[in-house]
Amino acid sequence: MSDYRDLKQAIIDSCLRLQAMGYLVGTYGNASARMPGGLIVTPSRVDYAAITPDDMVIVSEEGRVIAGHRPPSSETSVHRMILNARPDIGAVFHTHSLYASALSCLHMTLPVIIEEQSQVIGAEIRCTSYVPAGQHQALGEEVARTLGESNGVLLANHGVVACGRTIEEAVFAAQVVERIAQMYLLTRAVGTPIPIPQHYVASERERWLYKYGTAADRAVPEET
Ligand SMILES: [Zn+2]
Repeated sequence: MSDYRDLKQAIIDSCLRLQAMGYLVGTYGNASARMPGGLIVTPSRVDYAAITPDDMVIVSEEGRVIAGHRPPSSETSVHRMILNARPDIGAVFHTHSLYASALSCLHMTLPVIIEEQSQVIGAEIRCTSYVPAGQHQALGEEVARTLGESNGVLLANHGVVACGRTIEEAVFAAQVVERIAQMYLLTRAVGTPIPIPQHYVASERERWLYKYGTAADRAVPEET
């Protein structure tokens, strides 16, 4: 049986990138990717720079540790419940990026204000109710419920969860959520941002998911 070494390394590499960008502080934050029957998740309380593929933990859809010598992230239920609820998602990253975490303290919903949000996040970014630290099951349920069909959600007084079809897409989503949070704060400094109409959000999302970079999305028709 494959031990998913490449997938584990890809998660670790992405965490190191996010840490270098300041999105992950200390051992805060965690990441996962879907695998058949469950997920691969980062271990609890291990420095990102020290994590090796052998430290990664495999957890079943029901939440049972299948493989790994370390305890899984304390927030594994967040990852597991999202992956169980959203078959379209293949990877989940939880970060404490600064601007989005700041907005999480205001329990704000961020409307769709910029095209990259339509495309990569696909919806508004809602904020959960506050779930006290340590209530892992409750946090997982609240985050999966609040995420809905979006690819980004704020965790009240805590941080961010971003998702994508692949690890690369989920990392990108984490970056986009942080940029949206910055833009939201910038726009609110001078006025009230005007959301993109819902039908354009849906069409942009559709284009990103299925047409972006393909022949169907050419600006100029091909010569025949
Ligand atoms: Zn956290």
